[in-house]
Amino acid sequence: MSQLIQIQITPEQAKNELEIKKELASVLKIKDLDSFQFKWRKRSLDARKKQLKINGTFEVFLQNEPLNESVFTFEKQDVNNKEVVHIVGAGPAGLYAALQAIQRGVKPILFERGKEVRARRRDLAALNKDQIVNPESNYCFGEGGAGTYSDGKLYTRSKKRGDVEKAMQWLVAFGAESDILVDAHPHIGTNKLPKLIENIRNTIIECGGEVYFESKMTDIHVENGKLVGVTINGISKIEVKSLVLATGHSARDIFYLLHNRGIRVEAKPFALGVRIEHAQNLIDKIQYHGRVNDEFVPPASYSLVAQIDGRGVYSFCMCPGGIIAPCATEQEEVVTNGWSPSKRNNPYSNSGIVVSISPDDFKGKQHPFVCLDFQKSVEKACWEAAGKTQRVPAQCMKDFVDGKISKTFPRSSYQPGIVSVNLDSVLPPFVAERLRKAFIEFGRKMPGYLTNDAVLHAPESRTSSPVQIPRNKENLMHPEVSGLFPCAEGAGYAGGIISAAIDGMKCMDEAIKYLGIQIPE
Ligand SMILES: Cc1cc2nc3c(=O)[nH]c(=O)nc-3n(C[C@H](O)[C@H](O)[C@H](O)COP(=O)(O)OP(=O)(O)OC[C@H]3O[C@@H](n4cnc5c(N)ncnc54)[C@H](O)[C@@H]3O)c2cc1C
Repeated sequence: MSQLIQIQITPEQAKNELEIKKELASVLKIKDLDSFQFKWRKRSLDARKKQLKINGTFEVFLQNEPLNESVFTFEKQDVNNKEVVHIVGAGPAGLYAALQAIQRGVKPILFERGKEVRARRRDLAALNKDQIVNPESNYCFGEGGAGTYSDGKLYTRSKKRGDVEKAMQWLVAFGAESDILVDAHPHIGTNKLPKLIENIRNTIIECGGEVYFESKMTDIHVENGKLVGVTINGISKIEVKSLVLATGHSARDIFYLLHNRGIRVEAKPFALGVRIEHAQNLIDKIQYHGRVNDEFVPPASYSLVAQIDGRGVYSFCMCPGGIIAPCATEQEEVVTNGWSPSKRNNPYSNSGIVVSISPDDFKGKQHPFVCLDFQKSVEKACWEAAGKTQRVPAQCMKDFVDGKISKTFPRSSYQPGIVSVNLDSVLPPFVAERLRKAFIEFGRKMPGYLTNDAVLHAPESRTSSPVQIPRNKENLMHPEVSGLFPCAEGAGYAGGIISAAIDGMKCMDEAIKYLGIQIPE
């Protein structure tokens, strides 16, 4: 029988199999190093003290025991002539909903407004180089959704270990490194995600599912409280009985469509602020007690939170070794977010620093679009302030805290460019003041963090959906429309790749049950 052993080793030892063996042998009191083999099962970095440590859990196999090599596969099934569930949106939620349908012996038909993952690249290049936003194909829209050209961090707060493991194991089955099953903070990287997404799509089609790109849902048809169809691209009306609606937090047209058709949507809290960029070396130095350019540890990350004047201000989607990306979905707005390649080897470190926003902050707080309108107004103000292009308003961090205009900037990875703007002119005082106070507090927690060598880019505004599409707790269906399953981040039930994927699987199960098909519990 293999056994699990937990040990603490140095980062140098962790990169050296012989050293790991020696440590394990000493714990197990084994003399002969050739008499056993091991596998990493869990790995996390402890950087609290000057001597960095790796906490490792290893599975140890004695010589005569078979190595427990786990192979993760997706079990393909022919669903060609099976019952159909429709899905709108090919982000992590929509794609996992389709995979789940196949596992349940049901045929998924998926509509995606954007282009397939490779063609999408050209639109991202146009956005970065020529500042042209294609409203159907950008960092948020297109095959793989916002998850494709993202950072690919796979950390989730979900407590349901079984669901998380299944979601992660499918990623491995479709091409992710199995390290993601071991690392405490797993990460794939933008360079590796497109191939993985392509593999998922090819499998869906191979099994008999259908995937349509450049196919935007433009209308929804409901009769007597029952979903009966959707219109695609304004012309094709399609009969639909059961629909997983997974259109993401940026599909504002879907929120407006539902509202205009009398289908209830509600205002939802979200968060808004700036994306901050430091030199990665500085963050390494702070977090690793002076250790920089160290090949044995990954580029350092951080997680910061403060309560300022009664509300949370926190770091969001931190990207070590990353790049700040232009994530607008319309021409007349500016939006930032961050990504990183698998090696996280860029000299920059960026993170959103955002303030919680609630519908109660606004007049007319009952209206479903109070938070959405606020989000739009800040994005538009930033676009105007930076010269009506995809350049972003920017200010050095200390200058912002001290209320000074920045004359020069140390650096920015944001490709379309930055423009010096007093961020108080684009962020409302209740956001700007809290950011200011939070930066001072973060500077105390991480000495060196509050510096003019860091640049604020505004705004970070697409943190989560500012609108909720309600659904019943027991069957995940819209309370007013039978057959409509609002799903994942756009509907307000997920945040991040893994939680969206898990919600996609759950919604698909309910969409299948709605058709009267039994599924095993
Ligand atoms: C730059 C960036 C970096 C990120 N980094 C990370 C990260 O490191 N880790 C992490 O966990 N999360 C990250 N995220 C967030 C993550 O990508 C999202 O949480 C996740 O993709 C949400 O999944 P979803 O399926 O709910 O929605 P989305 O991924 O938003 O997918 C929705 C899909 O629906 C399509 N759609 C919209 N409207 C229509 C319509 N009318 N008809 C047809 N199709 C439509 C869209 O084109 C899109 O493909 C990042 C996001 C961005 C933008």
